Amino acid sequence: MSRRRFLVRSLALASAAAARLSLAAAVAPTAAIVPVVRSEEEWKKRLTPAQFSVLRHEGTERPFSSPLNDEKRNGTFTCAGCDLPLFESRTKYDSGTGWPSFWDCIAGRVATKVDYRLVWPRTEYHCARCGGHQGHVFDDGPKPTGLRYCNNGVALKFVPA
Ligand SMILES: [Zn+2]
Repeated sequence: MSRRRFLVRSLALASAAAARLSLAAAVAPTAAIVPVVRSEEEWKKRLTPAQFSVLRHEGTERPFSSPLNDEKRNGTFTCAGCDLPLFESRTKYDSGTGWPSFWDCIAGRVATKVDYRLVWPRTEYHCARCGGHQGHVFDDGPKPTGLRYCNNGVALKFVPA
């Protein structure tokens, strides 16, 4: 193979690989997750007042108020709005903050936005399927990610394994 042909071929392979990667990135979340869209009234009927406040209006539950703080069994934490699995119990840890805390989420299950409700910007995250607010993610978590997903317990349901 001439050097030129080799280069052309390498470039073609590389761009094909890049196309596959970007296709996977673009397709995977939407293919796996069909958005759940409901009106305010529908959500109000389905959720408890506390769930509605947190999930639909970015409320914050009182610290140390959630029974999920002490949940140590093996299982999955799902969105209280639409049951999408968001966290695995192996990533839960005691952050001492009074809210259920995780050092990682299940890939692709939460989406983030910057929240300016307090003076300093925080990263808000919500369920990728129903948009329900879950909590905020900070960079003071433990290894291996260094992240702390600080979650409202009322926005989650625990499903034992
Ligand atoms: Zn959800």
